[in-house]
Amino acid sequence: MSGAVRPPRSRRPAGPAYPYARAGAEPMKYGAAMTKTFQMFIDGEYCDASDGGRFDSINPATEEVWASFPEATKEDVDRAVRAAHRAFESGPWSRMSARERGNVLKRVARELEAAGPELAIAETTDTGKLLRETRWQAKNLAEIYEYYGGLADKVEGQLPPTGPDAPLAMIVREPLGVVAAVVPWNSQLQLSAFKIAPALAAGNTIVVKPSEEASAAVTAFAEIMRKAGVPDGVFNIVTGSANPCGQTLTSHPKVRRISFTGGVETARKIIAASAENIAMLSLELGGKSPVVVYDDADVDSAVNGMMSAIFAASGQSCAAGSRLLLQDGIYDRFLEKLVARAGEIIIGDPMGEDTHMGPLATRAQRDRIEDLLGKSQEAGAKILTGGGRGGFDKGWFFEPTIVECGDQDFPIVRNELFGPVLSVLRFREEDEAIRMARDSDYAFAGGVFTSDFGKAYRTARAIPAGRFWINTYRVTSYAMPFGGSANSGYGREGGIEAIHDYTQTKAIFADLSGEKVSDPFVMR
Ligand code: NAD
Repeated sequence: MSGAVRPPRSRRPAGPAYPYARAGAEPMKYGAAMTKTFQMFIDGEYCDASDGGRFDSINPATEEVWASFPEATKEDVDRAVRAAHRAFESGPWSRMSARERGNVLKRVARELEAAGPELAIAETTDTGKLLRETRWQAKNLAEIYEYYGGLADKVEGQLPPTGPDAPLAMIVREPLGVVAAVVPWNSQLQLSAFKIAPALAAGNTIVVKPSEEASAAVTAFAEIMRKAGVPDGVFNIVTGSANPCGQTLTSHPKVRRISFTGGVETARKIIAASAENIAMLSLELGGKSPVVVYDDADVDSAVNGMMSAIFAASGQSCAAGSRLLLQDGIYDRFLEKLVARAGEIIIGDPMGEDTHMGPLATRAQRDRIEDLLGKSQEAGAKILTGGGRGGFDKGWFFEPTIVECGDQDFPIVRNELFGPVLSVLRFREEDEAIRMARDSDYAFAGGVFTSDFGKAYRTARAIPAGRFWINTYRVTSYAMPFGGSANSGYGREGGIEAIHDYTQTKAIFADLSGEKVSDPFVMR
């Protein structure tokens, strides 16, 4: 989250660069004392910040500094955007056929298949996300690049019907130019892939800014792009904080499109930044997603669904189902099982094959959750399980927590916590559940568990969300769109349509009659 406590910026001289696959780079060792030194990637070359500034990244499971990154200056960001602009205007990327561009992205997919496990270790060390999950996501990553590589030569124009004597009218789709991609720390490789792959497939060039809380996996990804033969300047990475790095990037006059994933407060600043360059925007923001469980639901299945909705990734997911709406008749039975299951969750080393939940990614995350939970307790919310740090004296761990809330006005029901905290509310009738579910500033995702398909469908249609699950949760596919509305942002990522969001139409009229253009001032 913005405002996180981070170690002071250092000006430590750059040691051996980390990019994991470079000649002589040592394999990453979890918990190893040596700090890994990462570099930015601008115009096809690894580089440090122009003034030598660096910042550190902390392993959230051990609270030890494990990596260091360049703190990009305004000049560095400007150089990256200009390199991307040059590559767009005159470089080979814009002159390549769409099929050739697609082939480069498919090579990225091949490289990822080999390097995925190493990138997964980087992401887990950086964020505390379970290695089992980052490994799965790394595999899925190759599929995303393969998918958009395949779509590159399917961005088609149109020939609208016009009269036989009218000029030929053509609609062509063209890339926009330089894309600025700003990504958060959670699922950073996957979330950035949903920007990089369609943007490049459509013929744009890109500058990516990972989160200063965790930049490792995205930064290491540069090596994949280099090995796959992405031309210089087409793909660039700048690392650093909101200001100057993020602000310079998003307000840069040469940026034509901003793709942002993160929190709503940052989104407001990015909207303001885009007033400078009038860049097109898409905003993937947070959520406070409701899950409705009706009396007729299969209890065991719905309990499993809820476990995945709120405790997977320690609840640090934009789609987390963090508001459970439980019908009266099933309320006690369901909660008893859910609380028992939550109590069995194994918290600990995110590298462990048996671990169910790792730490939160930042100390600020944990502090915020504790603060909002405390305020909700004072207002009368009742913790049924969890609420503590799980007995860890090191690492930003937080227990799976289930809280009974009398109404929707408790701070933990209104605000996105981005952690493993579930608010539970009771309802009697379907209408009441829908009313409660709709009563939120967010509209990202939602879910329902019931054996009545008609009720499931009515509920799915009545709750505002960009993604909705019936009798399951968290299932996903790169071919399906995701995104939200209201405080959850606007625009969609994933699927075929996303590639069009990185293009604009041009309407071309061509007079093929061979006749001279008539004098416009002579009326016939
Ligand atoms: P954040 O908004 O604090 O930061 C996100 C990124 O924005 C970071 O790279 C940060 O450096 C950058 N940034 C911050 N201020 C900026 C500025 N003024 N100008 C330009 N860039 C700036 O979010 P976070 O804490 O990293 O991530 C958590 C949030 O992201 C949650 O709200 C979560 O729900 C959301 N999220 C949404 C999705 C989605 O797909 N909708 C996915 C994951 C996370």
